[in-house]
Amino acid sequence: MVEEQLKSRNIKDPRVLDAFIRIPRHTFVPSGDCEKAYGDYPIHIGLDQTISQPYMVALMSQCLALGGWESVLEIGTGSGYQAAILAELVQEVYTIERHEELSLRAQGKLKALGFSNIKFRVGDGTLGWPEEQPFDRIIVTAGAPHVPGALKNQLNDGGLLVVPVGPAEEQSLEIIRRDGAQFEQKTVCACRFVKLIGEEGWAE
Ligand code: SAM
Repeated sequence: MVEEQLKSRNIKDPRVLDAFIRIPRHTFVPSGDCEKAYGDYPIHIGLDQTISQPYMVALMSQCLALGGWESVLEIGTGSGYQAAILAELVQEVYTIERHEELSLRAQGKLKALGFSNIKFRVGDGTLGWPEEQPFDRIIVTAGAPHVPGALKNQLNDGGLLVVPVGPAEEQSLEIIRRDGAQFEQKTVCACRFVKLIGEEGWAE
């Protein structure tokens, strides 16, 4: 996975590559799909949701340009795999999932793997986590119709928000950098995610 899917596609951040080597991805897929866990595609995890393709997890992690000191907010805990990668890379991870069942399952797996630097919340992540803001980095792992304003507002000065934005069928992966009251936006590539559902996302 690391050689054929990540290094060959320009994932160069050595800390991101190391995290992929350390985290057992098969732990995060349904038990019947273990042999597919390291394949080059997303996998269904129930409730119409997916664990993202390894390359997309790596690309988004690399886009966050993490030094190790940051606090990171993730919207869309899903299987917990992206949260595990982030928790290897930074001090503190905050992750929000709208489906309680998925959040509880992810919490069990991440605690069993020994992670103690991840805080979980069940709810609408489009509104962010006001009590814990500001965040140095925010990553949204579901497709948003537009950039949620609450997430921009909860970014630290100099912070980065990585988010797929666009129509339900295809989005573009955007990196937004906060510079005081200004926000600079850069498009990375086309991508396809499940819908971000919530007050500042798609209607259910
Ligand atoms: N990061 C996940 C992983 O590593 O497995 C993949 C996430 S999956 C592609 C997208 C997740 O976003 C789903 O679990 C979905 O329920 C969740 N989601 C969608 N809208 C949400 C919202 N407003 N707040 C929190 N989670 C949301």
